[in-house]
Amino acid sequence: MSNTAIYPGSFDPMTNGHLDVVQRAAALFDRVIVAIAHQSEKHPLFTAKERVEMAREAVSGLANVEVDDFQTLLVDYVRSKKARVIVRGLRAVSDFEFEFQMALMNRTLAPDVETIFMMPKDSYSYLSSRITKQIAALDGDISQFVPPHVEKALRSKFKRRP
Ligand code: ADP
Repeated sequence: MSNTAIYPGSFDPMTNGHLDVVQRAAALFDRVIVAIAHQSEKHPLFTAKERVEMAREAVSGLANVEVDDFQTLLVDYVRSKKARVIVRGLRAVSDFEFEFQMALMNRTLAPDVETIFMMPKDSYSYLSSRITKQIAALDGDISQFVPPHVEKALRSKFKRRP
């Protein structure tokens, strides 16, 4: 039986921290699906289509990783892919409370689905899509935080009008 893990999130946009988690998951599971949530209370900067395209390019070198988007309840999506594992990243204690609540709620909804947490390389533990967008909006250097094509997309979103 193939062992599929779902890595869900907003990925608005995908950062090197997300990629670090994807690579770790790809080394452990036969198949990893990066699942991009349409509906987000976070009011994404990029459309779902743009987020999917950027993530696809970012993971193109990883043979067992796919990118998809979903609009349903996460556990329903996980089951539809015949997967039993949700992967989430944990950066710091500040992530813990929300992740703990989500994982236990998902377990209540779907006891057969397990959430596992992966920690990125320490230098990515302070990195988030939100802070990267804030730096890009103020024309700061984000080249260490996102892949080059994502940097380009962020630059063009925040291009100053003359
Ligand atoms: P969500 O809106 O679901 O929190 P995100 O795209 O912000 O979506 O994050 C998706 C997952 O990736 C979450 O588990 C988050 O904690 C994790 N994550 C985000 N940034 C990093 C990072 N720099 N290192 C490791 N994990 C991260």
